[in-house]
Amino acid sequence: MTDWLKKLQEEYENTQALRWTGTLDEYFQRVKANPHIARLAHERLYHAVLAHGVTNTPDGPRYRFFESVLIGEDVPLRLVMEYLSGAAEGLDVRRRILLLIGPPGSGKSTLVAAFKRLVADYSRTEEGALYGIVDCPIHEEPLHLVPWHLRPEMEADLGVKIEGSLCPRCQQRYDQEGPDAFRVERLILSEEQRVGIGTFVPGNEKDLSLDHLVGSLDFSKIAEYGSESDPRAFRFDGELEVANRGLMEQAEWLKLPQTYQYELLSLAMERQIKLPRYAMLYLDEVVIAHANVHEYQQWVADKANEAMANRVFVVHMPYVLKVRDERAIYERMLAQGAVGSTHVAPHLLTLAARFAVLTRLEPARDRSIDLLLKSRLYDGERIGDVTDASVRALKEEHPHEGLTGLSPRDTMNVLTHALGESTVPCVTPIDYLRALKDWIDHERFLRAVPGKGMEQLNQYRLWIREEFDDLVRQDVQKAFVHAFDSAANTLLDAYLTHAEAWGLKEQVPDPVTGELRDPDTQFLRQIEELIGVSDVAASAFREEILRRAGALARRGERLRWDTHPRLKEALSRKLFSDAQQVMAGTLTTKTPDPEQAQKLQEVKQRLIDEAGYCSHCANAALEYVGWLIQRRQDGANS
Ligand SMILES: [Zn+2]
Ligand SMILES: [Zn+2]
Repeated sequence: MTDWLKKLQEEYENTQALRWTGTLDEYFQRVKANPHIARLAHERLYHAVLAHGVTNTPDGPRYRFFESVLIGEDVPLRLVMEYLSGAAEGLDVRRRILLLIGPPGSGKSTLVAAFKRLVADYSRTEEGALYGIVDCPIHEEPLHLVPWHLRPEMEADLGVKIEGSLCPRCQQRYDQEGPDAFRVERLILSEEQRVGIGTFVPGNEKDLSLDHLVGSLDFSKIAEYGSESDPRAFRFDGELEVANRGLMEQAEWLKLPQTYQYELLSLAMERQIKLPRYAMLYLDEVVIAHANVHEYQQWVADKANEAMANRVFVVHMPYVLKVRDERAIYERMLAQGAVGSTHVAPHLLTLAARFAVLTRLEPARDRSIDLLLKSRLYDGERIGDVTDASVRALKEEHPHEGLTGLSPRDTMNVLTHALGESTVPCVTPIDYLRALKDWIDHERFLRAVPGKGMEQLNQYRLWIREEFDDLVRQDVQKAFVHAFDSAANTLLDAYLTHAEAWGLKEQVPDPVTGELRDPDTQFLRQIEELIGVSDVAASAFREEILRRAGALARRGERLRWDTHPRLKEALSRKLFSDAQQVMAGTLTTKTPDPEQAQKLQEVKQRLIDEAGYCSHCANAALEYVGWLIQRRQDGANS
């Protein structure tokens, strides 16, 4: 037997082992031993999320379950959990529909799909086990068999709360055969097998029928049972009935006619639905509806919906506004095969993410903060005297920011377009920028970005183009300096040694002769001047660096060349200025000599080994930086 068949066999046996049927009395004993098994749907879902773990952060709790589901939607997810925890406790929110509002591709369906998997998986665990009446079409809770007047006593004895009444079919059986006729089974919830998980997506209006939601009469059975109102002649196969005990997803809810909307609302409010010709049917399920921003805005604006609007618990799910979160979403989409095996060159996803985020941002009240700066602040960069508190204030100016703009799918479309144009198995930021320009020129984005015109989109494109120029130049420069990190750290050590001796008015031993010499202040100035530290400011700058190094040393850490932002800039410039000549010469010549060709080969290899490039995009980057240098030289000459 192969390992795979063994695994299948094991899986099958595990599932079989979960199955259990027993008598009503055995079920009562189980409930008494473990009252959790009689939990209602909201409480069950809430505990299913908690079972994955919670960490407390300064911003509030983080639920581990969501980490693998959605990136960067902390605030909406926290609201969803607020809803579930309130509903689990039986507060009034349980009587409302959870309504997710967001633009296309913001994760609404992803979240509901994850919840569906969760309730299914949880029902297979010991902690999440639940039971239903055998042969009940809606798998109802066996405790419904307990008549109302006996419930208080039983609730006290078993430690549970019993809610709801028997379905018409079980009621009929109970009346005819008594409690002894009933058996109980463990339920394994499953969307495929239509147990405890239902979905309703409005198709085209013509085919729309309430039967899909609430079930329908089985005409072949009417003759058999002699009456339309015999519950055995009704098929309890509507999505609401299928979803009993678990979760109901209602997609595009606000597109439905009002009758349908009411059906769900009354279910949420009353826990029951009215079936034609029968008494009310009790159902216990979490109803999650979702809708697009535009439909929602129209819906709430309509006075006729006012009463309904009060019966929903709305959670807005905007697009993410952090560039790093957006990039992480792309990485996940790529890992799922969005562009096949093509290499995606360094920086492309960051730039694409920046562009998408820019289309989602609203202008800040403070006009000195343009959207580019805003996107960097949102992304966690702290520039100038900006603090976390001022960034929070910036966010509060537009609580619903991110409900319009480009979706991650839009980015993937541009990327696919860029890919189509490329003749090699690699797509570079240059390809992306070209494709982006194409899409902007053909006005293919304008629908997704109301309030933003061609002018803005082109501005964003120029911004990311400049960001790209900087990033690629840095990569190539770094690759030109052999062992850049260690060269930079050696340079830093030299700087620190001389600065320290200067501060203590001591001498420094010559590395070769060991002879003591005065600290090389000329060398210190050389580095400082590269970042515009004046003679007057030099002492303060050196002291600051020494203090920083001292503080780190006390914690057993070392100052690295890139720890201090200004020093980092100075050291890179020093190293680059030495390499600049070679680089300019090597990259701009049409006919490299053997030495230059050798150098180019080394640089390219370093880009591949150390910076995530492949052979194609390394060549493209070198060519592009050569072009940038050439352009600057031409500019300087003219
Ligand atoms: Zn039943
Ligand atoms: Zn590549």
